[in-house]
Amino acid sequence: MPSDLAPLSVLVVEDDPAARDLLILAITQLGWQATAVGTAHDAIRAATEAMPHLILLDIGLPDASGLEVLRAVRRSSATPVVVLSATSDDDAKVALLDAGADDYLVKPIGLPELQARLRAHARRLDAEQRADDELEIRRDGIEIDLLRRRVLRDGQEIRLTPTEWSLLRTLARHANRPVSSDELWQLVWGREFGDAKLNVRVHILHLRRKIEPAPHAPVLLVNVPGVGYMLQVP
Ligand code: CA
Repeated sequence: MPSDLAPLSVLVVEDDPAARDLLILAITQLGWQATAVGTAHDAIRAATEAMPHLILLDIGLPDASGLEVLRAVRRSSATPVVVLSATSDDDAKVALLDAGADDYLVKPIGLPELQARLRAHARRLDAEQRADDELEIRRDGIEIDLLRRRVLRDGQEIRLTPTEWSLLRTLARHANRPVSSDELWQLVWGREFGDAKLNVRVHILHLRRKIEPAPHAPVLLVNVPGVGYMLQVP
């Protein structure tokens, strides 16, 4: 039964061929797109390069724990991660949710339940994307299209890193309102500790070079003295 929701691209991280086939079937039956990898190494690379909407992550992988994949993904993106584990152990579950997992499923999981959970995540993403859609930003030849996840400069697509994209999207969601470095550090990187001001500043400078008409005199990504940064839009 195809879903009436916008099709999602899902990254499947599972080393067991039978389990992987079931996950792919669940996704393709919904009319969505699945990309599958079987190692932690490939998972981290695919999460960055393919920019999936959702990640289904098995915890028992041959080269590293799925927990390490989760932590690596969370360093640069807020993509929802649904963890699949063979254990229902509470401590393990808490550790995964603390590390940034959005949902936790205990294997074996049947097709109907899996699809119900996938649809629930899709509905939530759909609602977020609709909110994003209203935030299409155009100014001085720059076009930020949050729904299609792209930035154009004079009609040419600009490539952003996942972190730059996440930073821009976070500022866009707070458009015309200042956001502090600490808040950005928390929202984009998920960190509470570390040099928020320095790290955020470095990424703001990179982003300005890509999207500002004149990076030394920013009109989009402006400083708000004593507060932080703001995406200034008409
Ligand atoms: Ca496994």
